[in-house]
Amino acid sequence: MSEREFDVVVIGAGPAGEVCAGRLGEAGQEVAIVESHLIGGECSFYACMPSKAMLRPGELLAEVRRIPGVREAVTGDLAAGAVLKRRDEIIHDLDDSGMVPWLEQRDVAIVRAPARLDGERRVRAGDDTLVARKAVVVATGSSPLIPPVDGLPEAEPWTNRDATTSKEAPGRLAILGGGVVGVEMAQAYASLGSDVTLIERADRLIAREEPFAADDVEQSLRDEGVDVRLGVSATAVRAERGEVTLELDDGGPVRADQLLVAIGRRLNTDDIGLDTVGLEPGKPIEVDDSMRANDWLYAIGDVNGRALLTHMGKYQARIAADVILGYPSGCVASNADGSRSPRVIFTDPHVAAVGYTLDAARQDGLNVRAVDVATQGNAGASFYGRDDSRGTARLVVDDDRGVIVGATFTGPEVAEFLQAATIAVVGEVPLDRLFHAVPAFPTRSEVWLYLLEALGIAGPCGGPPRA
Ligand SMILES: Cc1cc2nc3c(=O)[nH]c(=O)nc-3n(C[C@H](O)[C@H](O)[C@H](O)COP(=O)(O)OP(=O)(O)OC[C@H]3O[C@@H](n4cnc5c(N)ncnc54)[C@H](O)[C@@H]3O)c2cc1C
Repeated sequence: MSEREFDVVVIGAGPAGEVCAGRLGEAGQEVAIVESHLIGGECSFYACMPSKAMLRPGELLAEVRRIPGVREAVTGDLAAGAVLKRRDEIIHDLDDSGMVPWLEQRDVAIVRAPARLDGERRVRAGDDTLVARKAVVVATGSSPLIPPVDGLPEAEPWTNRDATTSKEAPGRLAILGGGVVGVEMAQAYASLGSDVTLIERADRLIAREEPFAADDVEQSLRDEGVDVRLGVSATAVRAERGEVTLELDDGGPVRADQLLVAIGRRLNTDDIGLDTVGLEPGKPIEVDDSMRANDWLYAIGDVNGRALLTHMGKYQARIAADVILGYPSGCVASNADGSRSPRVIFTDPHVAAVGYTLDAARQDGLNVRAVDVATQGNAGASFYGRDDSRGTARLVVDDDRGVIVGATFTGPEVAEFLQAATIAVVGEVPLDRLFHAVPAFPTRSEVWLYLLEALGIAGPCGGPPRA
């Protein structure tokens, strides 16, 4: 039992905790980071990285098959074993030793133990007590939500951890939940040869995105043979002789070799001692735009419930570090609430979106309109699998302010389109300036020209919109 003092103690070494601790260490602060499992967190080992490693080969194969001259050069299906082996390399066989030097180079002390708050500025980490002179930063992330369905625990369902580390593709995979994780895993496992059934309670997939994005993803999954069941809930689960049977409220049943539950996330706040500092366990840790819950406690990443995305957690980490270092907190308000988060669903087609959907903007009372054009309707798209691939690009424009407040692109490999839209949305670039941001020919970024024309925006010198 020992007691040690640091300037800052960070709990949780996922992307948010790591970035915050590293930035503070670089600035000369004495920092400890406490991690109970793997440095790198969910994202590096069980979420972003392995899921993308499992999706990219299928996406590439589909793209190649759309392009005459190349499709002839590629025959056969994916080699599932090789795809999963490469995935294992990307997640370093669940060995986090490669993550340690980055923290050590910044003089961050690594403590491997489960941690709990133990009163003001105090953290219990195993047998040690760590006392923070300036701040404690909670970055404990989130875990899969398991619904109270009869028989579900006995069926030992997969969560994202199993789905992203499995050594083989099950013959039949049933997935509960048609959100981001559900659709990504449905596509990944279908491409690896599983017969996939995707069950979603709502009447469409990826409900937070534009309806056309949900339609595009649904169509693509159906084309790959995924059995998509919408507007259906599981009422009971039975596991017998290696088979899982799901009873559904529309009759069902669905039989599978494996069941993945992907209905959402629960924030890791129930067992971290929040009650010892006057906060309610099991709830998101509410923070202001400086990521502060009070004058010494900060919460960053999934755990504050603002935006459950790695890049937003890392952005919040930089905000918290800068505020702890004494930089003015007024500079951070622009995107700290997460409302302008960029996000990508790495299905084929991709769904890449930033800021508002049209419906969400209207619900917030904005005076908005939307324009849509075909993502693939330009010269640059000729070199992609143009004819067979669907895709829509939408801008949501605030007519009162003359700025873009949301953008959504669907189409093959449109994730990299997103940063241009993010700059326009977060930078609040006036619409009439955008005609001067000339997209190179022949790139698919010319979609921006067509979007501006569709908006009826005058050309660079105020001329008519269509030349
Ligand atoms: C399948 C899947 C795919 C995803 N893909 C993407 C994607 O492509 N892009 C994207 O931006 N986001 C993606 N996400 C979301 C992303 O994974 C999370 O937003 C991100 O990991 C959150 O980072 P974090 O640092 O807040 O928490 P986490 O990554 O969850 O890390 C929290 C860390 O805290 C540790 N910890 C928890 N409690 C304690 C304790 N009491 N003591 C000590 N340590 C503790 C945990 O062990 C963990 O290492 C995906 C999520 C899933 C499930």
